[in-house]
Amino acid sequence: MAKDYYKILGIERGASEAEIKKAFRSAARKYHPDQAKGDKKEAEQKFKESSEAYEVLGDKQKRANYDRFGSAEAGFGGKGAGFGGGGFDFSGVKFDFGGGGESGFGDIFETFFGGNGRGGKTRGPMRGADIEARVRVKFEDAIFGTTAEFKLDRLVKCERCRGNGAEPGSKISDCRKCNGTGEISTTRQTIFGTMQHSTVCPDCGGEGKTFEKKCGSCHGTGRARKSEKIKVKIPAGVESGAVIRLAGQGEAGAKGGQSGDLFIHMMIEPSREFERRGADIFSTQKISFIQAALGDEIAVKTVHGNVKLNIPAGTQSHTNFKIKNYGSPKLHSSEKGDHLVKILVEIPKKLSRKEKELLEALAKEGGLKIKKGGIFG
Ligand SMILES: [Zn+2]
Ligand SMILES: [Zn+2]
Repeated sequence: MAKDYYKILGIERGASEAEIKKAFRSAARKYHPDQAKGDKKEAEQKFKESSEAYEVLGDKQKRANYDRFGSAEAGFGGKGAGFGGGGFDFSGVKFDFGGGGESGFGDIFETFFGGNGRGGKTRGPMRGADIEARVRVKFEDAIFGTTAEFKLDRLVKCERCRGNGAEPGSKISDCRKCNGTGEISTTRQTIFGTMQHSTVCPDCGGEGKTFEKKCGSCHGTGRARKSEKIKVKIPAGVESGAVIRLAGQGEAGAKGGQSGDLFIHMMIEPSREFERRGADIFSTQKISFIQAALGDEIAVKTVHGNVKLNIPAGTQSHTNFKIKNYGSPKLHSSEKGDHLVKILVEIPKKLSRKEKELLEALAKEGGLKIKKGGIFG
């Protein structure tokens, strides 16, 4: 379902051109990020929506199509007409605010939000994309820490040109259009008054340099795809779902731009013997009913090795015992969690003849009348 642009701008369907313009100006002021009160994200969203609405309703032809078809797609012929797909593409948006001539809205938007390349037309150095990777970590490795290694396919700085896009040996000189600054300052009349702002130099794409020949390896982009081994230190005590961020280890930026970050998600493998909740580790251990009745000293397996545990006489099944400080180390701390063992008392499924006699004697001693195959059998 298409958006109701009239509703977004808060106007009637029969609004005049002047009313539409007025409504948009007031919306643009209201949601201007420097002035908007409260949620900045929401303001940014509202700002975009209002602009999108004005882009349509402020244009006679587009408005007619919109009124007739009730949808932006039908009116504009779909992709490439400004709002292809879900994203809002500022590159095709032009505003005439009257008196100031044409103003590229994408440029204004970037001045507000400090975005880069939102309009798709910025050609200067651009930050590389962030990458997310998943790493499987063994149960014990997550407790004691390890170094994980994995292969990562990503865009890296081109080795041939060291990222600047110029063929080695090619003559590099300062851009004549921007005198090597990479920016061009312009003054514009906008709805907010006179605004001075800088745009990326169109000749050099913001680098401030021009070169005779593009790098033969990366064709001037400064980047190349490469599969590399990544090593990452997994700290002791890391928990499943934890994310490690390696700054600057994402994709290389375009034309010498800053690299993105690499986010590594920990997937900790389960253990057959242990269960971990935070820094505490849980296990179960079976003992015989005789051990439970008479008491015993048993060995409990923990992640730190076997530990002696005293089972007092008369221990009931499902009793938990805590072995202090035998759990996982706490992340970035010298403290440790505990090991908790649940004792399960086992009843033998089969008895030898001798065992049976002894148990029957025991029953007699306790005044227990066993009916089945026992005393009266
Ligand atoms: Zn290159
Ligand atoms: Zn330039």
